[in-house]
Amino acid sequence: MESFASTTKNCWEVYSSPQDGRKMQALADRYLAFLSRCKTERETVAYIQERLADAGFGKKKDTITAALRGKTLFVARRGRQPLARGLRLICAHTDTPRLDLKQHPLQEQASVGQAKTHYYGGIRKYHWLARPLALHGVIVREDGSSVSVVLGEEPGEPVFTIADLLPHLASAQARQPLSKAFEAEKLNLILGHAPLRDGKKSGPSGAKGGENPVKDHILTLLHRKYAVREEDLYSAELQAVPAGPARFVGLDGALIGGYGQDDRICVFIALEAFLDAPRAAPAHTQCLMFWDKEEIGSEGSTGAKSRFFEYCVQDALAAWEPGTRFSTCMLASRAISADVHAAIDPDWQDLHEKLNAATIGHGPCFCKFTGSRGKYMANDAHPEYVGWLRGILNRQGVPWQMAELGKVDSGGGGTVAMYLAAYGMDIIDCGPAILSMHSPFELSSKADLYASTLAFQAFLRA
Ligand code: MN
Ligand code: MN
Repeated sequence: MESFASTTKNCWEVYSSPQDGRKMQALADRYLAFLSRCKTERETVAYIQERLADAGFGKKKDTITAALRGKTLFVARRGRQPLARGLRLICAHTDTPRLDLKQHPLQEQASVGQAKTHYYGGIRKYHWLARPLALHGVIVREDGSSVSVVLGEEPGEPVFTIADLLPHLASAQARQPLSKAFEAEKLNLILGHAPLRDGKKSGPSGAKGGENPVKDHILTLLHRKYAVREEDLYSAELQAVPAGPARFVGLDGALIGGYGQDDRICVFIALEAFLDAPRAAPAHTQCLMFWDKEEIGSEGSTGAKSRFFEYCVQDALAAWEPGTRFSTCMLASRAISADVHAAIDPDWQDLHEKLNAATIGHGPCFCKFTGSRGKYMANDAHPEYVGWLRGILNRQGVPWQMAELGKVDSGGGGTVAMYLAAYGMDIIDCGPAILSMHSPFELSSKADLYASTLAFQAFLRA
């Protein structure tokens, strides 16, 4: 008898052929290398720019790439249809939760040299203790020259860490609620321990008689390596991130574990889907928009609330179709706000409402609305658009699921969808479901990586 019920499909079963298996593994290998290398928004944008340059973007006519401050990037490939018929746009964010170094970072206490940090985005503070951390970022000198910093990633290279309290002295802490037990001002990154021994009375930190010999030593090492002084750290963005490469997880290697998959998995998938294109021009103009600052509310000149996207589309209209109004193009556009979704956590199933929760390995999740407690701050995608999208994926045989983030009163979250919806375009959140979101070791499924790439490809070509 014909079934009228709806069930999701397991991507491992849909893509069980040896040919799909090979493609899935090749994609996962590329993704692992990307995730291991790209740990900041700048590193992510640089990677995208390299891949685009390799594919001939920038030289090819009918393509546009525009970056702002090395942190946000717009790419377009002109379609056969006029811009008045709208864009096919996928946007994702390049930033991830982490520990930023404060502008006055260096201190020395109890024979240990530390850097003070100010966390960025939604972290669980205890995740960052007693684990190897790397430092990534940029230091800008007053003459405008700058140095890129990547420390603690090479095998054998020293790493950094934040010491945790020993359990023997943690009885008072153990009685505190989680929200009070870990203080941001104790998230101090250990940078060094050996004092400077140069025989001089006053060290580079300016302290008399070697009062801060460890800090002196750290400043000396930074000067030797990068020709920077303490004041240069005021104009620096240094981020402490989990050290080391991403890894396959499980006896079957079917999961991918690594830092920053929210939302670099969507950045990667969007780029792969965009680059794996036929030679002929697509029907609609295809765009990718990579934003910074999503994790802290999409503010700033490189966040989704900025005007950068608008400037880029205006430039495309001026170059390709000066007669078309910006509003005409926007109102006809269709977009995916590519962001990760929370998969049902096997150990915290009670926090999910299972009928409307996402299952890892069951394909990209559409999330009609995000927001929290009564859909506040949500873009709620229109049903006409949802119907069109599911038709596209069903025709291509790509598994997908429809999900909501957690039980209604458990919490929630937002994405950039609402800022693009403001232009009047159709937009919905869509992306793979992951476990351990916002942790230093997030987990995704190789099968979802593959299915989501095919889904984004189908959308761009539809
Ligand atoms: Mn995200
Ligand atoms: Mn996030």
